[in-house]
Amino acid sequence: MVVRGRRVVFDRGVRPASLHIRDGAIFKIGEWDEIEPGERLFDAGDCAILPGVVDLHAHINEPGRSEWEGFSTATRAAAAGGITTLVDTPLNSIPPTVSSGALLKKTDAARDNVWIDVGFHGGIVPGNADDLSKLLCDGIVGLKCFLCDSGVEEFSGVSLAQLSAAIERVADLDPWVLVHAESPAILDAARATIKKQDSWTYDEYLRSRPDEAECAAIEGLIRIAERSRARIHVVHLSSAKALPLIATAKAKQISITVETCPHYLTFNAEAIADGATELKCAPPIRDAANREALWKGLDDGVIDFIASDHSPCLPELKSNRDFSQAWGGISSLQCSLAAVWTEARRRGFGLSDVMRWMCQRPSEIGRLAAKGTLEPGKDADLICFAPDETFTLASEDIFHRHKLTPYCGRRMFGVVEQTFLRGRLIYDRGSWANEPQGQIVRVASRPS
Ligand SMILES: [Zn+2]
Repeated sequence: MVVRGRRVVFDRGVRPASLHIRDGAIFKIGEWDEIEPGERLFDAGDCAILPGVVDLHAHINEPGRSEWEGFSTATRAAAAGGITTLVDTPLNSIPPTVSSGALLKKTDAARDNVWIDVGFHGGIVPGNADDLSKLLCDGIVGLKCFLCDSGVEEFSGVSLAQLSAAIERVADLDPWVLVHAESPAILDAARATIKKQDSWTYDEYLRSRPDEAECAAIEGLIRIAERSRARIHVVHLSSAKALPLIATAKAKQISITVETCPHYLTFNAEAIADGATELKCAPPIRDAANREALWKGLDDGVIDFIASDHSPCLPELKSNRDFSQAWGGISSLQCSLAAVWTEARRRGFGLSDVMRWMCQRPSEIGRLAAKGTLEPGKDADLICFAPDETFTLASEDIFHRHKLTPYCGRRMFGVVEQTFLRGRLIYDRGSWANEPQGQIVRVASRPS
């Protein structure tokens, strides 16, 4: 089979090309008109062809909290949004993915229910250091932990010392360690300055999670990365104040990488109404100047990639409109590509930039070698994307388990027309393949 288009997105730019696919993989990139007679052809016309998005951070919550989200609903929504690979975090499922037994339960829940390819992160919590090497050998993509309270009691945070000790135990397996970086001591102190127990405005919530909490935690992580052999990754960076620290560490060849999320690149604190708890997340969305500095961080390469951090909950958990009590987490899986593209094009970035931030770099850093670019030998995971078309996200077109998302009603650029997974058309303008064809992705752990 051949998929061709006038605007095929490679890391070195956009050009006409034909993608020749055999056994689910790309085996040749040809000129646009390089088609053998009788070959099955899908012509993308004016659509851009991009590799499928690789999202390394999504909370699917199944098993145990599948009333919040589940593998089938999340991955259908993902396919409609141009994502072909996602990696599920170790929380907020019950059990959390902190042992091989829990990973088995995850895998059982996902198998036969995923419309795209899905991998798993394991978790580091106090007391599970003995489980980590087995999790890595079972093929998890990374090990995730929190330095502060995670929000759920079954997934406790760890101290920097506990994290450091856990990394030592598995250093030979070259783990990729993902960290929610906010200092608990600074969060506690900030929270204590807010006199009210509840009924917080957005400004009060913002003051309870200051930039300094992120910066202090990241300083600690840089010290760990400097002396351990582990690759450390900061999930969902919100504070641009941490960018100089990260840039300096990278200049010293310290192994630290960073992601940010569509919501930090789209929204700004000044425009968040009190009560708009669909925008509550941690760390919080900061001001417009911060947002622009994050865009600069992406442009400079200090921020490595973008992940959705899709983190839905029951809508009731946000319905009290109180920023002190509402569940924190933003639901965005289906529209993360369109949201990023909308803001990127406004700032003069191109499709190759978005491809680098959402496909190529995540596949490299997550070591998902078959994913992330359109090259011979890679899986034929690709999307036909109409970058100049707009749509307004309507509630009835949201395929997450719940419709609550701050993107509902927003006009965005970029319509995903078709999604191909390993060469098979799985989504075509609002309709899906007859059955889920996703696979479980495992990353081979190599002793370093
Ligand atoms: Zn998360």
